[in-house]
Amino acid sequence: MKAIVVRQYGGPEQLEPAEIDIPTLGPGEAVVEVRAAGVNYIDIYHRTGLYPADLPFVAGMEGAGVVTAIGPGVADVAVGDRVAWAMTRGSYAQYAIVPAWRLVRLPEEISFDLAAAAMLQGMTAHYLTHSTYPLQPGDTALVHAAAGGTGLLVVQMAKMRGARVIGTTSTPEKAALARQHGCDEVILYTEQDFAAEVKRLTGGRGVEVVYDSVGAATFDKSLDSLRVRGMMVSFGNASGPVPPFSPLVLSQKGSLFLTRPTLAHYAATREEMLARGRDVLDWVASGRLKVQIHRIYPLAEAAQAHRDLEGRKTTGKLLLRP
Ligand code: NDP
Repeated sequence: MKAIVVRQYGGPEQLEPAEIDIPTLGPGEAVVEVRAAGVNYIDIYHRTGLYPADLPFVAGMEGAGVVTAIGPGVADVAVGDRVAWAMTRGSYAQYAIVPAWRLVRLPEEISFDLAAAAMLQGMTAHYLTHSTYPLQPGDTALVHAAAGGTGLLVVQMAKMRGARVIGTTSTPEKAALARQHGCDEVILYTEQDFAAEVKRLTGGRGVEVVYDSVGAATFDKSLDSLRVRGMMVSFGNASGPVPPFSPLVLSQKGSLFLTRPTLAHYAATREEMLARGRDVLDWVASGRLKVQIHRIYPLAEAAQAHRDLEGRKTTGKLLLRP
């Protein structure tokens, strides 16, 4: 089969189109013929080695397609089912082996493209807004990179929960898109001091929660944007990982809470994963949740997709077509 293989850590050029065997199917696993693969920032961290993975590996943590075979003991899905998954590597390929418990069956109205676009970032937005800091009406949330794949979904789910949402983006075009998806206010954080703007927009008080996927570049000012006893949710490193940090700072800046969550721990069981995955797919099917697909690249152009994502050239979701 055709696949994108990473043999050593490095830049986008390490995403090598290759012809390899379909991996062997084991107990509890299913083979999925991949119709669309989601591109996520985590794929960049695996490629660079920021999140170490055993080399060589087939890239990609999200996909949608059709089950073509099941291993011993699989009861959750059957051959022919239309499914999607997140958080198992190997989706940048024509076929992927996925633990069956991670597969969600698709409602009929959902295309493979929409499913591959919604699963990982949708379940992430779901746990951030419903579980890590469960937003309530009256809360104000600051969402960085609000026009990104995850950002647009966090903004929409925060609005569903009744919160006021302040977004940040690097350009006016991205700001307009964030507003179309529900942002009440957008700050151009490449031009303005976003902490000062947040204080101004909240009457000096600060926000209840910051959802920060940008990392190193925004961390300190995100803490400065919080109200007393607010929660800093540092969930990504698009600008680089946050350097070591003293907990005493949390006291000095207002008895703040800090968490560094990952989807793996918020979709850790089949029940939890299905609950989040079904909510996301149902909301997409009903039109309650809009999924913005930036571009669908041929599988062989995975390196270009990474360049565009890292280069801040994209909004919404990038997909690969095997
Ligand atoms: P995005 O579509 O959000 O793309 C990244 C965006 O980050 C860019 O478009 C850009 O928006 C912004 N950004 C700010 N600074 C930089 C920089 N120096 N270099 C590149 N981009 C920058 O990507 P994803 O939605 O795939 O992922 C967003 C983040 O969320 C990632 O850090 C990812 O790891 C994290 N994430 C974490 C999960 C978890 O469970 N912990 C799960 C899913 C995602 P702008 O131009 O507006 O600044």
